[in-house]
Amino acid sequence: MATQRSPSNTAERLKNIKAVFLDVDGVMTDGGLFYGEKGESLKRFHVHDGQGIQSMRSQGLQVGIISGRSHPSVSQRAKELGVDPVFQGIGNKLECLQTWLDKAGLGLANIAFMGDDLADVPVLKAVGFAATVPNAVKQAQEVSHWVSGKPGGQGAVRCFADLFLEYGP
Ligand SMILES: [Mg+2]
Repeated sequence: MATQRSPSNTAERLKNIKAVFLDVDGVMTDGGLFYGEKGESLKRFHVHDGQGIQSMRSQGLQVGIISGRSHPSVSQRAKELGVDPVFQGIGNKLECLQTWLDKAGLGLANIAFMGDDLADVPVLKAVGFAATVPNAVKQAQEVSHWVSGKPGGQGAVRCFADLFLEYGP
């Protein structure tokens, strides 16, 4: 059951985490898609989340992205922040993650994931630590271990990074 407070086994779950995967739309952004007059689209990222990603990396965590959509700005932002791997245009996120885990020699218990929509639910149900945002769909909130105090695109990833600082990876 999702809760704003951390569950009692948070420290135990976070202890096993080696890599953090993030959804993009609704997590790293507020879910808004800006369209220009020529049909070009723009995403808006929050600087606090960038600091959060750097914080997680400096704590020894690998940080990756799994997004259902695909956008050049995501590749650019990931590059700036040392986020790797970056999986975009992914239909089955759990399958994508499992393939990467097999290569990396890690298990689902070693993964924390932050997602907000129905496509994220199978991953949230499977990983060692499932995080979501207050503006997530109900189904994502129901299966997550933790809900950030701030909404997606407004510092949610930073809150997540601070949780690792608080409990330690
Ligand atoms: Mg999303």
